[in-house]
Amino acid sequence: MTSQRTRDRMVARLRGKGVQDEAVLAAMAAVPRHVFIEEALASRAYEDTALPIGFEQTISQPFIVARMLEALRGRKPLGKVLEIGTGCGYQAALLARLAKEIYSIERIAGLLDKARASLRPLRLANLRLVHGDGMQGLPEAAPFDGIILAAAAPKVPALLLQQLATGGRMIAPVGTSDQALCLIERTSTGLTEQWLDAVRFVPLRSGKQ
Ligand code: SAH
Repeated sequence: MTSQRTRDRMVARLRGKGVQDEAVLAAMAAVPRHVFIEEALASRAYEDTALPIGFEQTISQPFIVARMLEALRGRKPLGKVLEIGTGCGYQAALLARLAKEIYSIERIAGLLDKARASLRPLRLANLRLVHGDGMQGLPEAAPFDGIILAAAAPKVPALLLQQLATGGRMIAPVGTSDQALCLIERTSTGLTEQWLDAVRFVPLRSGKQ
């Protein structure tokens, strides 16, 4: 149920749905998803579905996680990345395999504690977890080559755009009742914007608790 074979089947399904980036698929084959999900639901960890992680939050569906990581990478190795919304820590663990350096911010202390406990055995030396309001970004570590949001805002927060390096990419669910993934790139001449899949994410909220 939680074996490599189960994970390989999940990856085969993602491939079937159109995910092509081999680095993303390899990371998803390697990182156990069940260790981030409470025991009662762990048997469903490799289904292509979102699951509750407590505090009224959810871990995203594997297909959407794959799509976002694929868009963030743009087939290029990632340098320094900022993740907003650590949640259970699953996507942070994937990012740690795909980027040189990861900063992941979570606003709910209780969730961050749980994520820290799940991530510890994986020994990801390039991942730093921060308790804070991700809407502010992390100016002390900016600029970032990649920024990924795991919660939806009506508009991409301007402060985050300021922390995106030239050549950097940001992927974010944008919208309120109707949401879609928005991919933004900062080129030498300005920002470009591209709309991808329709999605359903929990809202980005300000402040920490
Ligand atoms: N990537 C996560 C998905 C978590 S769901 C995973 O793999 O589990 C989205 C998360 O964003 C929630 O944990 C929520 O608390 C967090 N969040 C919402 N607004 C935030 C903000 N302003 N700063 C940091 N985290 C935020």
